[in-house]
Amino acid sequence: MLLDGKNSAKEYEDSLRLKIDKIKEKSGRAPHLTVIMVGNNEASKTYVSSKKKACLRVGMTSDIKYLDESIKEDELIALIESLNKNDDIDGILVQLPLPKHINESLVVNTVDPLKDVDGLTILNAGKVFTKTGGVAPATPKGIMMLLEKYNINVCGMHAVVVGRSNLVGLPIAKLLNDSDATVTLCHRQTRHLSTFTKSADLLVVAVGKKDMITKDMVKPGAIVIDVGINRMDGKLYGDVSSEVSSIASYFTPVPGGVGPMTINALLHNLLELYEVRHDC
Ligand code: NAD
Repeated sequence: MLLDGKNSAKEYEDSLRLKIDKIKEKSGRAPHLTVIMVGNNEASKTYVSSKKKACLRVGMTSDIKYLDESIKEDELIALIESLNKNDDIDGILVQLPLPKHINESLVVNTVDPLKDVDGLTILNAGKVFTKTGGVAPATPKGIMMLLEKYNINVCGMHAVVVGRSNLVGLPIAKLLNDSDATVTLCHRQTRHLSTFTKSADLLVVAVGKKDMITKDMVKPGAIVIDVGINRMDGKLYGDVSSEVSSIASYFTPVPGGVGPMTINALLHNLLELYEVRHDC
């Protein structure tokens, strides 16, 4: 069965629109997201524009600051510090990757944790990892929202996550662990990967290699979440081979699975940050 991220995201947006209308009536303005985009990476440009469009669809506001590839690190930091102080901005997102001459971690951690919609600051990561609140990164959060939408309870399942980035693999492993799945985290150095993937009740793949998970690596009836985005000849592909859909109980398509839910989670995080800052 298809885990339809596109439709689930649309339904969530419909409910969000009503909440935003109420906020606007009460406070006179909607939550605002500022996105910072450095350089000319074509994929990043598509992502930032989709994020802005999603904000506008639900009645939130958003602007994108397009900055030249050659911007100096201290200029970028100064810009973020001024956005931190601006009370009309509720969320700040620095689109990654940044050019090589900029220290990504330093820049990301300049964002006020109370405006960190992507949940990438050390403070938010620490809070999520110690279960003391915080903002979870949008992609793992979106995956959890999708599982919830389909009433999939992961308690007791063996969840295997392939990929351990700070952005996706590591935090989704944590969130699944918090939901009482038994989690195995696999990565580039994992030996005999298929031994693990084959024993998964729930398989999450976030690597960035087309067709790296084939049918023989998946247990029939498993739930398969494909996070990968691989561009080839103008088309998008996931990390999981299309033949896997014939044996999975549930699977996410690419595109139309995790991608729309990531944007959904971003909207969710923005609203939550707005509510915390405005005490509502
Ligand atoms: P990353 O490059 O930071 O991490 C990749 C991970 O894969 C690493 O932990 C690495 O150890 C692991 N890996 C590499 N080769 C492997 C192998 N042969 N076997 C097992 N593990 C291996 O990437 P990322 O930022 O986590 O993104 C992963 C993929 O997800 C990319 O395709 C990215 O475009 C996509 N992505 C999609 C969304 C979305 O909204 N759908 C959001 C973020 C990332």
